[in-house]
Amino acid sequence: MRDPRYDILFEPVKLGPVTTKNRFYQVPHCTGMGWMRPRTVAAMRGVKAEGGWGVVCTEYNSIHPTSDDLPHVSASLWDDSDIRANRMMTDAVHEHGGLAGAELWYSGARSPNNLTHQVPMDVASMPILSGHPSQTRAMDKSDIRDLRRWHRNAALRAKAAEFDVVYVYATHGYLLANFIDPKINNRSDEYGGNLENRLRLTRELIEETKEVIGDHCAIAVRFKADETVVADGQPEQGERREMLEMLAELPDLWDINIADYSLEMGASRFTKEGALEPYMNWVKSVTTKPVVTVGRFTSPDTMVSQIKRGVTDLIGAARPSIADPFLPKKIEEGRSEDIRECIGCNICYSGDSIGVPIRCTQNPAMGEEWRKGWHPERASAMASASSVLIVGAGPAGLEAARTLGLRGYNVTLAEATRVLGGRVAREAALPGMNEYIRVRDYREQQILNMPNVEVFRESRLGTDDVFEFGADHVCIATGADWRADRFDGKAFTPISEAVLTADDIMDGRLPEGSTVVFDADNYYLAGVIAERIFQTGVPVTYVTESDSVSTWAGNTSERWRVRTHLMNLGVKIVTAHALTDFDGTTATLTCEYTGAKKTLEATGAVMVGQRRPRDQIYHDILAKVGDDISKLPFSLKRIGDCEAPTIIAANVYAGHRYATELDAEIDRDEPMRHDRVDVGSISSAPTNIPEGAAEQYLSTLLQYWEEEVAGEAYFRELAARAAEPRQKEKLLLLAQIETHTASIVKPLLTRYGLIPKTDEQLKAEGKHDAIGAPQQWDDLIAQMAKTFPSYMPSFKRLEEMAPPTDRPILKRMTAHETAAIEFLEKEIAGDADATLPLISFLCDADEAA
Ligand code: ADP
Ligand code: SF4
Repeated sequence: MRDPRYDILFEPVKLGPVTTKNRFYQVPHCTGMGWMRPRTVAAMRGVKAEGGWGVVCTEYNSIHPTSDDLPHVSASLWDDSDIRANRMMTDAVHEHGGLAGAELWYSGARSPNNLTHQVPMDVASMPILSGHPSQTRAMDKSDIRDLRRWHRNAALRAKAAEFDVVYVYATHGYLLANFIDPKINNRSDEYGGNLENRLRLTRELIEETKEVIGDHCAIAVRFKADETVVADGQPEQGERREMLEMLAELPDLWDINIADYSLEMGASRFTKEGALEPYMNWVKSVTTKPVVTVGRFTSPDTMVSQIKRGVTDLIGAARPSIADPFLPKKIEEGRSEDIRECIGCNICYSGDSIGVPIRCTQNPAMGEEWRKGWHPERASAMASASSVLIVGAGPAGLEAARTLGLRGYNVTLAEATRVLGGRVAREAALPGMNEYIRVRDYREQQILNMPNVEVFRESRLGTDDVFEFGADHVCIATGADWRADRFDGKAFTPISEAVLTADDIMDGRLPEGSTVVFDADNYYLAGVIAERIFQTGVPVTYVTESDSVSTWAGNTSERWRVRTHLMNLGVKIVTAHALTDFDGTTATLTCEYTGAKKTLEATGAVMVGQRRPRDQIYHDILAKVGDDISKLPFSLKRIGDCEAPTIIAANVYAGHRYATELDAEIDRDEPMRHDRVDVGSISSAPTNIPEGAAEQYLSTLLQYWEEEVAGEAYFRELAARAAEPRQKEKLLLLAQIETHTASIVKPLLTRYGLIPKTDEQLKAEGKHDAIGAPQQWDDLIAQMAKTFPSYMPSFKRLEEMAPPTDRPILKRMTAHETAAIEFLEKEIAGDADATLPLISFLCDADEAA
């Protein structure tokens, strides 16, 4: 039951022509998937809608090839094939009653157009601001006319893809922001000079977008509330209020952020929940339109307070929706304690930085919804009633225990120390790192409520203990130790006996005098360790082989802040040097470029470099059976840092993977689905439908046929785990309907030379999908009854797309869906003859075929 204090969060809000069912709004956020992986992104956004987000937006959605950000993957609305790709996402969101938003994006000087090789354009001739050795061309009037047309066309495509909210994106240093900025805009025409002129292009795009799709879609404007980056929490407003006043009533929604991206998207080490509030206090007073803003909100009390105090109307979220796609549902169901709170590590952002799909430290299912069929809240029931012993309760062991517990296994988690959490418990005690403890707290809280999971603290297990325990499965998750030696590019080489490690510092063995902290890890920990030592009052020098501080943290948008923070504290910084010797009074540093050596007076030296897996127990267990794993009386696996030291996110993932795949049939040769365009599928197009429509028709036809084949495997899988014989029969009948439909449609594939995926692949996909299906019969039927009718328009659309000769066959495909829907309706009504529509579909003579 929902706490009435949170009712306000579930009020509908009108956004122009559409209404969001509640105030939970997933603002546009990058995913590293975009146009490259449309199925993956659609499934991920769909899960958020399922979790209760009222509005779910795309990432930045490029309107034209002159705005291309690769290797950072945006979405795109360049042509009609993009409509279909985006449509997968809007369908997935609509299926769960959410509104889908598209953030139309034109980069300007932030993107070099590395993929398309188009000349980048912006308000002025200026350098590419993302660090490429190129410049933009200053847009002339015809460029501006082009841009307006491209934006209008993209808006029309967004409408065709059935988006409900469409953005004009006027912030984050992209084109419109540069037109608005008096320091950048040096034009002397009607697009430069006074404020009205500088806002002209933004105004035109808002008005034109409204004109072409405003009757159907809400028009949102993304805008910043302050002028420039100054001290945190002390906004420099500049002309922003005047600007917003001039445009105040034009859009249907204002999505407000700030100039400093490293604060807006701040890592928890430096930025806490609700950090944008000091910037927002005037915004709502100048517009009657709804306002959304972000703040890494995970506490429903903070959300309510923000709304009641008039800071915002909608609770904008990127990261909280990534860490917990079901956050709204949990509040709605009175389960706030189950919220998996974001830890502010920004690993999610690193996917986009590197150009790979998103992952999340707290939510291992993020990005795997389509590819592996993982779900953030559900896992398939255990395949066999068996017991699992997990050794080690760090992030890997805890997540394995949680997910195995969810699956129904009998789990024992043994931890050597008194506290659970392993490395997160240790790291979270360091300066600024306290939110990392949420990785442990969420999991500890979940397993506490699972009667089938037992936790033993202060239980350091040895090899004999493991054998004596007698579990069916043993999972070793014992972590790793920080090393004192240095990897010189080829091998580990000792520096000195006197060198301390990150573990020493976390154990409280702190140096007493001037100290060198050597960072060969290049992520966050060395900086945090330097700060911890500095807090004791001793001088600290941070040394790194790299050219910058915390290099990898550039991917998490933390690097700049880490260095500024260390400099502000007074920690000295030496880059491009390695710590190569230390004798207790002097540290020797060697230049990475010239090899020149220099010395520093220091009585302490701390190495933060690589780790050594704590895998002795794993090897000892294997040694007992002569390294022949098949001779063990239990299955054995090692996971997480103890297998291969890595980031926390990967360890949580490892735990989840172990638990999800235990007893599951995983095809080792093709362990996951591959989201990419299948170029080999279309060889001969129908001639009797309009030019340009053939490709869309054929790819849809192929996709739907493949879904029938996968559907058969899906229902067979569900039948295999059905609780009652009658349910099993019904599911097998549904499977038969799918096979039958596929066979009716198959001649069309042959006619057009369409090459589908292999049967094995499709079967694996169907089986994967079954993992996330509800366990209980009534829930399963209810879910199908909810989703199946939403597929009907798609089948009808396929009929409309088809040449007249193909339509009789496709009508049979539509009829199979009608039969399934009728069955579901009857089943819900408790009709003893519920299966009649299915049987009659199967019996109908297939005249068409
Ligand atoms: P990961 O990140 O891979 O989960 P951690 O280092 O965070 O690894 O956690 C490993 C946990 O395993 C630590 O809490 C450690 O105390 C525990 N551990 C190590 N060896 C044993 C053992 N033999 N028996 C029980 N627990 C152990
Ligand atoms: Fe939050 Fe980290 Fe997950 Fe991003 S990766 S959503 S910052 S927990």
